[in-house]
Amino acid sequence: MQKKFFITTPIYYSNAVPHIGNAYASFIADTIARYSRLSNVDTRFSTGVDENSQKVVESAATADMAVMDYADMMAKKHQDTWDALDIRYSDFIRTTESRHRDFVQKVLQKSFDNGDIYEWVYKGLYCVGCETFKKETDIVNGRCADHPNRELEQLSEKNYFFRLSKYQDQILEFYSSHPDFVKPRTRYNEIIEFVRGGLEDFSISRETNKFGIPLPFDPSQVTYVWYDALFNYLTVVQDDESKWWPADIHVIGKDIVKFHGIYWLAMLWSAGYEAPKQLLTTGYFTVDGQKMSKSIGNVIDPVAYVGEYSRDMLVLYLFTAFPIGEDGDFSQEQAILTFNAKLSNNIGNLLNRSIALALKIGGKLEWDISVTSTEKVEKYHSLMEVHDLKWSIELAFEYASEINKYVDENTPWKLDIEIDSDKEKLESVLFHMIANLRKIAIMLLPFFDIKMRELLSRIGTPYDDAISLTENLARDPVSFFIAEKGEPLYMRIGK
Ligand SMILES: [Zn+2]
Repeated sequence: MQKKFFITTPIYYSNAVPHIGNAYASFIADTIARYSRLSNVDTRFSTGVDENSQKVVESAATADMAVMDYADMMAKKHQDTWDALDIRYSDFIRTTESRHRDFVQKVLQKSFDNGDIYEWVYKGLYCVGCETFKKETDIVNGRCADHPNRELEQLSEKNYFFRLSKYQDQILEFYSSHPDFVKPRTRYNEIIEFVRGGLEDFSISRETNKFGIPLPFDPSQVTYVWYDALFNYLTVVQDDESKWWPADIHVIGKDIVKFHGIYWLAMLWSAGYEAPKQLLTTGYFTVDGQKMSKSIGNVIDPVAYVGEYSRDMLVLYLFTAFPIGEDGDFSQEQAILTFNAKLSNNIGNLLNRSIALALKIGGKLEWDISVTSTEKVEKYHSLMEVHDLKWSIELAFEYASEINKYVDENTPWKLDIEIDSDKEKLESVLFHMIANLRKIAIMLLPFFDIKMRELLSRIGTPYDDAISLTENLARDPVSFFIAEKGEPLYMRIGK
């Protein structure tokens, strides 16, 4: 079997710069992709921007810019954001690219030819915010429940519809044979209930919008933005789709799980493609107990945040504060406390103590037995393989706490190196500390690449990129050499 791994972020709306929730999804995909690459698996990681939207046309008009000039400017801002956050994607797709237009027209034609797309005149209330017609049940006080500040528009237009209803049974059968398709389970149960309630065909074109991908079988209409956007995941692998498809993971926000968990399956099957393997769904989070909003002034700009603190602090806190999939709260105070406790103290202390003791005996150290935990390593891999980032990271910190405790109990600083038996004990304790610290740093490499590589170099065992992360972890070096004390790896924040 081919060893490959393909992970995606959602493609983000191009009419706003990425916010902290987008950054969270991208950090998740980035960390999982890093682990996969470090495991020597051929890995692809795509992200991008969703541009064929009426909102982009409106935002460009507000900015008094031509639509494509505006889209170019925003695409650059998105890429700059990901660069600033060190998100190492392999593909960045813009849905206005010709490769995407060509591909979407190809799949539309396929579905049209096999009878899954048909013409219909649609009458109803349309929300520009959602870019969709609203049902009576979605309307509150005459407005869209999600966009109470926008007037709904009464529209009657010729549309093309996708025969989603035809796929209802196939979707439910797929769910029962793929119990891990959507994570977490609560999100999965929601869409299963929704599908059981009955699926209706949906409109996949717009007559009034002019910005978008024209239907190949009726160029007077453009493709509905959601229909076009979802296919971005396949556009990026057109160079070798049989190798890369199906995608292994789509990381998505919980607000778009219906599109990915229901519509996307039917659209793929209709065009002759398999379903993706898994949807990893993130929840929402508040900041200091409040919903993020410009008027409260608690909106976190991820780029400014890593500029003021660090990427490691942001990743550490986002991944440990709540598990992926749950709603949570981002507490500024807790973020600092967590950073100080886990990175500055726990890992930082273990490194400082190891270096100080090693220098006492000349920095050189040799040993002949394995002193590290294989049980921890196995547990780490089993957690990383199911993308349980919170408990993988917590496992590494728990491991570091155990080693710090071991050091406290053995009080190596009390030993007199002039006495042979003491020196031997000191070496034994020290070897135990450093060999385990090395493993902890390797476990944390997918999360904090730069600092963990630095740590490994400072204890004289640089990370070996020629072999996999698993092989690096399986190995116990027989010697260490420590040259100098150096600065703290992570400076403590505040007092
Ligand atoms: Zn709406």
